Amino acid sequence: MMETDPNIIPQTTLSLEEMLKLGARHIDQLVDAQGRTYFDVYLTQPPEAVTDWADFIDLPARYWEAVALVEPVIASPVVAKDRLRSWLFRRFETDGLAYRPESPISAHAPELFDQSRLLYALDTWAMHVPGDVEVCQRITKMMDELLRRSTREGDYTYIEQIGLYFGGTLIRPALQAGLILNRPEWIDFAGRMGRGLIDHSDLIKPDGSFKGHVHGALSALAGTLAYAIVAGDAHLLERARTGFDYARSISTRFGFIPEMAQREDDLIACETCTLMDYLDVALLLARHVDPAYWDVVELAARNHLWESQIRDGAWIGTAGGDDEDGIIRSRLSDRIVGAFAGWSAPHCLLAYHEQFGPGWVHTKEMRPLYLGKNRAMQNCCAGAGMRAVYQVWSNSVTRVGDQVSVNLSLDRATPDVHVTSFLPFEGRVRMTVARDCDLRWRRPAYCGPEDVRVQTSEGSSVRFI
Ligand SMILES: [Zn+2]
Repeated sequence: MMETDPNIIPQTTLSLEEMLKLGARHIDQLVDAQGRTYFDVYLTQPPEAVTDWADFIDLPARYWEAVALVEPVIASPVVAKDRLRSWLFRRFETDGLAYRPESPISAHAPELFDQSRLLYALDTWAMHVPGDVEVCQRITKMMDELLRRSTREGDYTYIEQIGLYFGGTLIRPALQAGLILNRPEWIDFAGRMGRGLIDHSDLIKPDGSFKGHVHGALSALAGTLAYAIVAGDAHLLERARTGFDYARSISTRFGFIPEMAQREDDLIACETCTLMDYLDVALLLARHVDPAYWDVVELAARNHLWESQIRDGAWIGTAGGDDEDGIIRSRLSDRIVGAFAGWSAPHCLLAYHEQFGPGWVHTKEMRPLYLGKNRAMQNCCAGAGMRAVYQVWSNSVTRVGDQVSVNLSLDRATPDVHVTSFLPFEGRVRMTVARDCDLRWRRPAYCGPEDVRVQTSEGSSVRFI
């Protein structure tokens, strides 16, 4: 396969490559000399970014994974890559799991959501650099320990207890690990975890509805759906699809996905992490189950996903002041450019002002760092946003044998075809075939077959299917 030539990336209405470039810039601007990320950004004067317990494993795993996704697309290195890896790999202990340290903001424990984000990152790096022996060893040790800690009952499995966020989010990366390293028992583990959620808990109701953190629910549904596709399990597939359709029912068509389902107060915001999972499920459904879901992907990607990336950081206030250990103030409004909104509204990057509750920190000394400040961003969404953009980008044009499919009318240059979209300013998409192939273009649902006009260079043949 030829590499995509960065010089032929079209620059028109919406460039996913530009979003990934901005994301890479953010990684290099925010990750500090130790390889630390900064979960919290506050609307203080001056604004502050403060490192938190999520920055031991969860966030650096997402940022490190984003590097593997972004670097080949933008064809330039992300400098913080080795620092992130070094920071993360120091968390591994002899049992193969990654532990937060005992500290004023964390307890020494191998928390399951942390393992899920790190396993996802390890999977991605194993695909990006197949010869990285250490990464493959880390996956093996982590998976073996997770299986050892799991409880098998009948046709299902769980670790400690059945959960969406704690446990359910492991399904997708565990399945991927099994596929990458050819370990059928890990694939079986993923299916058994999915069956636990669907058939042995009431976390996802038969009508697809669920309550609480939508990021956790959609992530677990993505894993369950991916397993169902791999294993040909019609029951799990239908239940996962029903769960996704419930998520659609509480979202907007342009991709505003609520952070919480059935929240009792009236605060509603969209966490970019949730939009990432939403696009992950929609892409799986579009590629393997029902092409109608491509429309769900395209609307969300070209609307709320694009709008959720920060391109001008002035809204958090004028940066100033000196940095301290674990606190960044300098150039902060510039450093957040390329990150993604933590709690967006349909019309702005921050839906409401909210602060941490008094239980967030356990020592009096740490309170001034975290309490009494309005939160502007949660940077879990930075890595998640880049993963979401990459997933859309990598699926916008696909090739199977000689058949090349333009699934999304978004700009993309591949060795087979260069797609330039003039939407929404003009109802026009230009596809330049770069080498001989059968080319298919997916007609968006809003465009009827009678509205399509095809203009080709002389001698080409076009047929409607
Ligand atoms: Zn997030």
